[in-house]
Amino acid sequence: MSGSENEGHPQRRRADHYDGQAFGTRAIHAGQEPDPTTGAVIAPVYLNSTYVQQGVGDYAGYDYSRTDNPTRRALEIQLAALEQGDHGIAFASGMAATATVLQTLNPGDHVVCINDVYGGTYRLFTKVLERFAGLTFTFVPLRDAASVAEHFTDRTRLLWVETPTNPMLNVVDIAQLAEVAHARRAKLAVDNTFATPYLQQPLELGADIVAHSMTKYLGGHSDVVGGALVVRDDALADELRFLQNAVGAVPGPMDCWLVTRGIKTLHVRMDRHCENALAIAKFLEARDDVEQVLYPGLESHPDHAIVQRQMRAGGGMLSFRATGGQQRAKELCAATKVFTLAESLGGVESLIELPGLMTHQSVAGSELEVPAELIRLSVGIEHVDDLIRDLEHALDSTRTLVGAAQGAEA
Ligand SMILES: *Cc1c(COP(=O)(O)O)cnc(C)c1O
Repeated sequence: MSGSENEGHPQRRRADHYDGQAFGTRAIHAGQEPDPTTGAVIAPVYLNSTYVQQGVGDYAGYDYSRTDNPTRRALEIQLAALEQGDHGIAFASGMAATATVLQTLNPGDHVVCINDVYGGTYRLFTKVLERFAGLTFTFVPLRDAASVAEHFTDRTRLLWVETPTNPMLNVVDIAQLAEVAHARRAKLAVDNTFATPYLQQPLELGADIVAHSMTKYLGGHSDVVGGALVVRDDALADELRFLQNAVGAVPGPMDCWLVTRGIKTLHVRMDRHCENALAIAKFLEARDDVEQVLYPGLESHPDHAIVQRQMRAGGGMLSFRATGGQQRAKELCAATKVFTLAESLGGVESLIELPGLMTHQSVAGSELEVPAELIRLSVGIEHVDDLIRDLEHALDSTRTLVGAAQGAEA
C-alpha cells in the first residue's frame, strides 16, 4: 500500500471552521456537510476499502480506508469541534484510543496515573504495557493536586487522569494538573468519557489530549463500540494519526456513522441525564437506609467547588451505598425493573450494577478496589418519576435484609 503514511496528508482534519458556534450547533453541523455528489443531507456511509487513482499516486485525498475514510473523517471533524480541539482521531474502541496515546512513549518512560482509573485502563497499563513496552506507572490519589508533583521522576512523560472517575465519581482539577504536568514537561491526558465535551472541555483547561470511549455517551444508544482522541498540537496529531494507520485499530464506517448520529443529540440527552441523575441523587440522599451518595452535582460532594468551576452539570453517573452490605446490594440490583442490570453506561436506558462483582472485579485486591456494597447507576433519559419509583420499590422491598444482615453480624 503506497501513500499510507500520514505525514503531509493533503487534507488535514481541522475543525476551526466551527469556532464561535454554540455546542449544539457544532454537534449537528461540524463535518456534516451534505454529500457533494448527490446533495444527500446526511453524508452517506462509505463502505469501500479502496479508492480509484487517476494515475499512479494521483488520487483525490483518499487511497485506503484504514488510512482514511470519508465517514470516519466526518466523525473526526465533529469530535474535534465538540472538544474545541483541532484534530479528532477515531479508534475501534476506547481502549484502542488509550493504547495509542501510550504508544507515543518509549521504553523506560514513566506515567503518573489517577488511582481510581477505569479498570480496563489499569489492566492495559499494568498487564500489557509494563511488560510489553517497558513503561512504568505510578497510581496516585489525585484529590490533592498539589502533591502530585512529588510522584514525577526525570522519566515522567505523561499524567493520565479521568474525571469524574468510575465508579467513585471523584473529580480532579484539570487546570491545576495541567500546570503540574507542564512544569515537568509532561503531557496531560484526560479521559473525558463520563463528562462528555458537553459538560467539560479539558483542552480549554490546559490538557494536551482528550480520550473518549465513544461506546458510552457519544454513541449514546448502547449499540456501538468506539474510541477517540482529540488534540490541538499539530505534531502530536501527526504522531497519533501515524499510529492510527500503522497499528490499525480503526473503527468501521458503519460504527463511525452511528456515533455521528448519536452525537447530534448529545447536548439534549445530557441535559436530561443530568436532570434525572440530580433528582435521583437527592431522592437517595433523603433516605435513612442510604449511607452515602456519590454524585458530582450534589453540594455534599467533596469536590463540588471544582465541579462548579470546570463542569456544566454533574453528569448522568451516580454511585451509592445502602445499608445492609453486599448481600442487600445484590438483591437491590436484581429488584429494579426500569433500571436494567448490566455493565456499560451512557445509553438512553438506565442501568444498575455492582462494580465490586461486575465492572471492577479485575481490580479486586489491588489499590483500586471499590467498596463491596457500592451500587453504580447509569441514569438514562426515561421519565424521572418512573426511575425514582423503581428505586423506591427496590429499596423498600429489600429493606428486610438490613435487619437480617445486622442480626448476622451481631
Ligand atoms: C468504557 C470506558 C473505557 C473503555 O472504552 P471501550 O470503548 O469499552 O474500549 C475507557 N474509559 C472509561 C472512563 C470508560 O467508561
